[in-house]
Amino acid sequence: METLAIFGGKPVRDKKIFYGRQWIDDDDVQAVAGTLKGDYITCGPSVAALADRICEVTGAKHAVTVCNGTAALHCACIAAGLGPGDEVITTPLTFAASANCAVYVGATPVFADVNPETYNIDPDSIEAHITDRTRAVVAVDFTGQAVEHERIRQICDKHGLILIIDAAHAIGTKYKGQPEGSLGDMTCFSFHPVKTITSGEGGAITTNDPELYRKLFLASQHGITHDESEFVEKNPEGPWYYEMQTLGFNYRMTDFQAALLMSQLKKLSKFSDRRKEIVRRYNEAFGDVPELILQKEIPESDTTRHLYIIRLNKDKLSCTRREFFDALSAENVQCQVHYVPVYYFPFYQERGYKKGLCPIAEEIYEGIMSIPLYPLMTDEDVESVIEAVKKVAAYYRK
Ligand SMILES: *Cc1c(COP(=O)(O)O)cnc(C)c1O
Repeated sequence: METLAIFGGKPVRDKKIFYGRQWIDDDDVQAVAGTLKGDYITCGPSVAALADRICEVTGAKHAVTVCNGTAALHCACIAAGLGPGDEVITTPLTFAASANCAVYVGATPVFADVNPETYNIDPDSIEAHITDRTRAVVAVDFTGQAVEHERIRQICDKHGLILIIDAAHAIGTKYKGQPEGSLGDMTCFSFHPVKTITSGEGGAITTNDPELYRKLFLASQHGITHDESEFVEKNPEGPWYYEMQTLGFNYRMTDFQAALLMSQLKKLSKFSDRRKEIVRRYNEAFGDVPELILQKEIPESDTTRHLYIIRLNKDKLSCTRREFFDALSAENVQCQVHYVPVYYFPFYQERGYKKGLCPIAEEIYEGIMSIPLYPLMTDEDVESVIEAVKKVAAYYRK
């Protein structure tokens, strides 16, 4: 058997590869430079054009761009009218922001468990957690795979809940042929550099509901409108008057970020195709490795995968997840774990959330890691990751 690099063997790769990274080309740089030399470096023509473009791509009627995905989730909770006493059901297998957004507005996150095969929030568990205080669901398209929209929609309709989709992983994903962005009451996107397309930092919220759109817009721009037809004050003193109607934030995206994202959006289908190609190759390579459990996909989801997760089959391996992770790192394949269950963190522990709340998510967490997946990976990169994973799995085979 080949000696692992961690024990002094030759690493599979010479150069470290990370789990994700952006793809920025000269045309992206030019788009940004053009905006920086223009008249507006914030709130200019690119921001306006971007909102329209996001509507086209997602099939939504309205879009508000914001400075990051967390701000998008915060605005969605504000627009939903959530506040103290309200409960918001979400998944623990996500980035903290999916739950924190409820806390920002004084509401209480409640964690539902996940499906043991897809790792997405389990509709039955959502239903089991509904109380007379439940007001909204934040469903996360984990790794980019669409949640079970149809069932979740039915549950939300039955109980009068607002459905917020956290699609930070899922731009480009379709559910039954319909793009993410038009399926929830509001859908939140992130354009952080590890996500499928990036504006450095950036986010957006889409909705089909004109009233939610107006609330989202106000929440992201100090609660201020410049549109006279919307003023409460019917006799404004002069043309300088603008009106603050609600308490909002400055969550604006700059015009050069919007220009970068417009440029990136042109490449969404190329990036998406390449991600799918790499996922197919990984699935094929790992399908017959009994030490690994692969994430399942529902047939309704045509997934632009953000993360590729391998899960260790602990019955077949003599190592811990930590040993497997460290061994891959020594082979120069740098994984990450998505995610530590949100309620494990001290902030939530101190507020009474106990370990054991979501046993399936906890069990999944114990065995998972995300291996490199991004469109700029070469075929050689992909093959080297496969080789490293297989090498470590073979070494620790029981
Ligand atoms: C990245 C991410 C966010 C937050 O997005 P930012 O742009 O980093 O603020 C929210 N939810 C999920 C699931 C994410 O992966």
